[in-house]
Amino acid sequence: HAKRVAGNSIETFVSDMHQRARDRLQLAADLRAALESDQLHLAYQPIVSLRTGRIEGYEALVRWTHPTRGPLSPAEFIPIAEQSALIVDLGGWVLRTAARQMACWQTLWDDERYVSVNVAASQLTTRALMQQVRVALADSRLDPERLVLEVTESSLIDDIEASIAQMHSVRALGVRFALDDFGTGYSSLSYLQRFPVDVLKIDKAFIDALDDPDGVLLVRAIVNMAASLQLRVVAEGVEGEAQADALQRFGCHLVQGYHFSRPLPAADVVAMPQTFAVPASQAIRAIG
Ligand code: C2E
Ligand code: MG
Ligand code: MG
Ligand code: MG
Repeated sequence: HAKRVAGNSIETFVSDMHQRARDRLQLAADLRAALESDQLHLAYQPIVSLRTGRIEGYEALVRWTHPTRGPLSPAEFIPIAEQSALIVDLGGWVLRTAARQMACWQTLWDDERYVSVNVAASQLTTRALMQQVRVALADSRLDPERLVLEVTESSLIDDIEASIAQMHSVRALGVRFALDDFGTGYSSLSYLQRFPVDVLKIDKAFIDALDDPDGVLLVRAIVNMAASLQLRVVAEGVEGEAQADALQRFGCHLVQGYHFSRPLPAADVVAMPQTFAVPASQAIRAIG
């Protein structure tokens, strides 16, 4: 009897595995179709200055409304896209769309707001990035200074020398780079100094840990290290007032998170508040 049960569970296991593989293939095919029709759009999440409360930029985040499954999160389809050349085409679409949107917004506000776009490892390893950025800038006439590209430590590690070389070429256009999800990768600090990045985004996991003393020490150390490398720092995933307050005291420049705003469809970005309440600065608090 025991043997039969074990046998059945192996069959179930194998058939589940096949089912999952079929689902992934189907989803990849659907995503290809989605790119060619109108199922993808971008949501924009403000990146806010802790000094002024003003919006300095927006991160563009891809969204997919699947015709039968409804809204899917990037966590469900980006990994699938990353297993094929699909991610490169998706990345090109995101760049063109975000650049066009920002070029349209830049005429509304007399400041230097930027759009920050996530870049996948394959866009670097296939050397597609440089051409995609050129096309997006030419097509939108966006100022290159208004484009930031987010890369992760793990996306650079694959092909490190070539990636760094390509980043230098893209940077020569006036585009900046941010190191996303900082602290979750496993690159060494010596790499950090070699990556041509201007911005460091501290991963949400560290911000979540701000309510314990070790977490506080770690975030302070990261902010101080970024300052000595002359990098701007963005804290990701800020969900509470106390976190924003601590980050401001440590000298973190910028924050992004649900506490300020969720990612919003383009149509809602213009209508949203343009300034946020930020914790009073040390100086003001000392007086009061
Ligand atoms: P990411 O680049 O680190 O983006 C930040 C993620 O954190 C976004 O999730 C955002 O919605 C979420 N987030 C922001 N503030 C908060 C907060 O206060 N609390 C919580 N719980 N979450 C917050 P999203 O949009 O689901 O994207 C997940 C990941 O998918 C992104 O992480 C990025 O790695 C990838 N992704 C999204 N759009 C693109 C894209 O256009 N291209 C590529 N290659 N990857 C993308
Ligand atoms: Mg990002
Ligand atoms: Mg991130
Ligand atoms: Mg992430």
